[in-house]
Amino acid sequence: MVSREVQAHDTVVRFGNAAVGGNKFAVIAGPCSVESEAQLMAVAEVVKQHGAVALRGGAYKPRTSPYDFQGMGVEGLKLLHKANQQLGLPTVSEVMEVGQVDTMCEYVDCLQIGARNMQNYALLKAVGESKKPVLLKRGLSATIEELLLAAEYIYDAGNPNIILCERGIRTYETATRNTLDLNAVAYLKQRTHLPVVVDPSHGTGVRELVIPLSRAAAAVGADGIIVESHLNPCEALSDGHQALTGPMFEQLMQELKPFVEAA
Ligand code: PEP
Ligand code: MN
Repeated sequence: MVSREVQAHDTVVRFGNAAVGGNKFAVIAGPCSVESEAQLMAVAEVVKQHGAVALRGGAYKPRTSPYDFQGMGVEGLKLLHKANQQLGLPTVSEVMEVGQVDTMCEYVDCLQIGARNMQNYALLKAVGESKKPVLLKRGLSATIEELLLAAEYIYDAGNPNIILCERGIRTYETATRNTLDLNAVAYLKQRTHLPVVVDPSHGTGVRELVIPLSRAAAAVGADGIIVESHLNPCEALSDGHQALTGPMFEQLMQELKPFVEAA
């Protein structure tokens, strides 16, 4: 169902005022984790001011170590909801378990399935039965075919509003956190009518590489990016090393202007 052979025209996924797919390049931005009201509101204002169409922020965090910050949980969701009400920016946040889906739907506008859950079929079915758009990230070692079949689970459960996300895969290379597979973007754009976004933050794991890889994502034909940003990355509770500072986010949006403003 997600194949171009079934539907030739591009799917545009809408939530709030945001549209992903179609002619405009969509920038979704915000912190890796929601950490406090002050932190979230401050970064949300900056990303909105410079043209982000949606706010990202994790409340339930899939951390490699159980001793690392695990997210604010429902308090974080409430802050996302508050940011949405105050700024009018729709929100994207990760859902990690079937039992969280209903609560997530009360507070956020788009449900993110993280890389580690791309093949959690019970979760894919649960978000497929929800009414919210889904941002589906490619698994750490998933093939493109497996990503498309994961999307098929969501579609088959009744939800056609799916955004695919290339966020880097694990290879032998250790200089960067992951290897951003831009082949996948060009390939997916030919195979499926679903919108495809790139996550250059997790794709590289290095703040200084996020702007160049964002330009590359736009050039290769992605429908947008999802990027991490933090006004004080040294103090971030997760992924500070890959977060764009406020001035860097402004620089990113300057460089993407021709794509963001395309008719
Ligand atoms: C995230 O978006 O913060 C995240 C955990 O991403 P991924 O699932 O791609 O690792
Ligand atoms: Mn992160």
